[in-house]
Amino acid sequence: MLLDLLAPPLCWSCRSPAARGDPLCRACRRSLRFLPPAPVALRGLETWAPVAYEGAVRDLVKALKFRGAAGVASAMASLIVANAPAGLLAGALVPVPLHAARRRARPFNQSALIAGAISTRARLPVADCLIRTGSKQTQVGRARAARLTGAGTIQADGHPPATALLVDDVVTTGATLAACAAALRAAGARQVGAIAFARTAGR
Ligand SMILES: [Zn+2]
Repeated sequence: MLLDLLAPPLCWSCRSPAARGDPLCRACRRSLRFLPPAPVALRGLETWAPVAYEGAVRDLVKALKFRGAAGVASAMASLIVANAPAGLLAGALVPVPLHAARRRARPFNQSALIAGAISTRARLPVADCLIRTGSKQTQVGRARAARLTGAGTIQADGHPPATALLVDDVVTTGATLAACAAALRAAGARQVGAIAFARTAGR
């Protein structure tokens, strides 16, 4: 993208100079805390992420979410593909969908950007087959009944892949991923796993 070419290569976390093509400077890259290679079960779903959601990782997630920085999605995908346990990257990549309200405010979905970058590296197809209904806007100034919709309703649009690997930027409780997995299974997916760039993890 033109913006990437014009921007000086500065670290997205601390704004120190960084090598071209790397969104983090060497010090911030060294600060990344890698998580164990085995997936964890969150709400019954095998979920894996390469790094802990803290420090410079938070800044990368923000840069992707609010700026759509293509170089950041690419760097996240590199870390995922380079560190994923054998056999994990299989099936079709299914990005976690954005809320309808956020879709109107932003032209991109950060999960889809990460899935696209993984797809290029790992040669896996992307199946953007989930939709989320129930607007976030209903949570502001509306009846309590509307707030109870929480994450909204997630549905599969058409036929999901038989083997699906959900992709998100950050996983915390796994509630959204579990709702996505349930929607995929209800629509016929037989095997569902999940990956994210980062996971909240205590020390
Ligand atoms: Zn830095």
